[in-house]
Amino acid sequence: MMALAIGIDIGGTKMSAGVIGSRGLVDGSVITEDTPAFTGPETIVALAVEMVNSLEGVGDASLAVGVGSAGVIGADGSILSATNSIRGWQGFELGPSMMKELGRPVRVINDVHAAALGEARLGIGKSLESFLMVTVGTGVGGAIYRNGQFLAGVSGTAGSLGHTAARNQLPRVCTCGQAGHIEAYASGPAIEQAYADATGRKFRLKEIAALAAGGEHLGGDVVACEVIHSAAAILGVGLADAMNLEDLDAVVIGGGVASIGELYLEAVRAAYAAAALPGPSRAAIHSATLGPLATVAGAGLYALQE
Ligand SMILES: [Zn+2]
Repeated sequence: MMALAIGIDIGGTKMSAGVIGSRGLVDGSVITEDTPAFTGPETIVALAVEMVNSLEGVGDASLAVGVGSAGVIGADGSILSATNSIRGWQGFELGPSMMKELGRPVRVINDVHAAALGEARLGIGKSLESFLMVTVGTGVGGAIYRNGQFLAGVSGTAGSLGHTAARNQLPRVCTCGQAGHIEAYASGPAIEQAYADATGRKFRLKEIAALAAGGEHLGGDVVACEVIHSAAAILGVGLADAMNLEDLDAVVIGGGVASIGELYLEAVRAAYAAAALPGPSRAAIHSATLGPLATVAGAGLYALQE
């Protein structure tokens, strides 16, 4: 398979890069490093350049490079706004800085938009005309995919489902500073917090999911089931509102919280079907198929567009 582009996913904790060929990600090409999130953006660029060079090997032609990053991305590849999970990220000229170091064009795309593109071309979205992509992890991100492309929006924030209102919840402050947004109830950290509030025990999402999967009759944990169900239900209702507005073929859910699996997805589906209008209520809710590599794949595909 001919190498066409390199995709990079810069996350708050991990950075991954891989080679995109004509049929998708080249097997075994993906490399992952810890993100140096607190030593300044220049350190991240240096590591990204090192990863690109190691993927290309010596003497290869320069491949197109696409970068998926959290935050709102400007037309020149700068980070217009971002949370502080990476120090100094907001305002950083990521695209221009990478271009300078690599000496070739670098295209930057929001990580959730990249994941949607990856799923659309190489994952579950291949069979869908349109879909709402939502990634539920540290935050709740979204992207609208329609007519062969994702909708970035005028300012790059289209599809930000996490920052729309959760119905009928006591106001809780969101990471964006507003009260009552879906992300404040449905994200991984929100589930961990709900569990800690109810039990006084601080567990990671994976542990809570394992406790819930045990089931009550197996000596499993009722509270774990409840906090997962509650987060899933809030997301499901939010998806219903978004799909009432957009009326797309399907919803595709990715991210760390979605990887809890059927226990979570079934609760999302039930809440969704009950809350959506009759038409959109029939839309399928799928699990994303590319997993954590969707952003790497989508970023590489994005580099090949235009
Ligand atoms: Zn918010």
